[in-house]
Amino acid sequence: MKAEKAEAAGVAIQPPRGTYDIVPGETRKWQALEALLCPVVSAAGYKEIRTPVFEHTELFKRGVGETTDIVNKEMYTFADKSERSLTLRPEGTAGVVRAYLSHGLSRQSPPVKLWYMGPMFRYERTQTGRQRQFHQIGIEAFGSEGPAIDAEVIVVAVDCMAAVGVKNFQVHLNSIGCRQCRPRFREILKEAIASKRQYLCQDCQDRFERNPLRMLDCKSPACQEHYQGAPASLDNLCPDCLSHWQGLLSLLAELGVAVVINERLVRGLDYYGRTVFELIADDTRLGVQSTICAGGRYDYLVETLGGPPTPAVGWAAGLERISLLMEPAQAETPLTFVVCPSAPAALKLACAVRRAGFSCELDFPPQGGSPRGFARQLQQANKTGAAWSLIQGEDELQGGEVTVKSMKDGSQARIPVEKLIAFLQENCRNGV
Ligand SMILES: [Zn+2]
Ligand SMILES: [Zn+2]
Repeated sequence: MKAEKAEAAGVAIQPPRGTYDIVPGETRKWQALEALLCPVVSAAGYKEIRTPVFEHTELFKRGVGETTDIVNKEMYTFADKSERSLTLRPEGTAGVVRAYLSHGLSRQSPPVKLWYMGPMFRYERTQTGRQRQFHQIGIEAFGSEGPAIDAEVIVVAVDCMAAVGVKNFQVHLNSIGCRQCRPRFREILKEAIASKRQYLCQDCQDRFERNPLRMLDCKSPACQEHYQGAPASLDNLCPDCLSHWQGLLSLLAELGVAVVINERLVRGLDYYGRTVFELIADDTRLGVQSTICAGGRYDYLVETLGGPPTPAVGWAAGLERISLLMEPAQAETPLTFVVCPSAPAALKLACAVRRAGFSCELDFPPQGGSPRGFARQLQQANKTGAAWSLIQGEDELQGGEVTVKSMKDGSQARIPVEKLIAFLQENCRNGV
């Protein structure tokens, strides 16, 4: 039902297909995810950048690639009131490169290291279990061409997974060569596949001309049969690419990062080069083997978007999948709960406790009504999971006192109100 119709009929409006709400309970997990990932990327010297969720459509056409499914089928593109074509960002890198150029960050001494986190938008078939608004964290490093930065970027991805407790994954790695060696490899590949072309899926038949490397990562098992024994880019690297590849492998070995060399891993677009990698989780919670992080070198993208030639490497990771692999977060409970027959006194005490940095809840009476009885308020304190009740009955109010009661063991102490904060500081911490 259309939203306007639904409103007229008084029917609750549903969220658009492919979107979802992150509700209390779940938000706690997302906060934890952010709190665990930020220190890892910051420690490695990556600085946060926040770019708009929509950009000129042209940016993604050039920066993601006109031959990709993303640009062809999956973008949320619309004309604004001035008839400009805008698109909700389907991924993070293009916007980061645009901002890197807009702000002259290319003039800073390299490497310039950036990270981002936020929602991305793709019009995908929802039966695949993918959301149309989903979230990614990503890092990008500009200005360094040696393999050390590739190794760093991969290690940061691995450390991010460790930080959020994701364990069962492999690092798949490949090199797809550069502008010098890839055109020749493309021809070698086409020659090897040409006789089988008619047996390939429609996508692969299209890719044969447009984007032959992409044939290799086709998900169809029938196609993969035909690619058995197909030539590998690794066997066709130019001397520079080969030494970059060997340098990266020895660095990762030195760092103790186990990798799976995967000749089928590719990025089909011209501005990708050399290193490509994916972190692939093997976890029943995600179903089959599932990519949780993907990245690589994109040495020609900055140029493609109008900047100076700038080597670059980075990755993006899907937060929905990672959050599925995390342990559930602890419930959000207040540390303290005020039990008091006077609404103004209760609110006053709660505010003082909160301003000292301790969470505090209280009873809210209806308009014109009075707070619930003592027993009901204590029950309510219990229900919220508060660790302590701060009891101010008529007696305590008169004497300027408060009874602090442990909801765990029932022990209690009656103290002057002005000593309450010191008592809390000594006896409890938020969340304990
Ligand atoms: Zn090369
Ligand atoms: Zn195929």
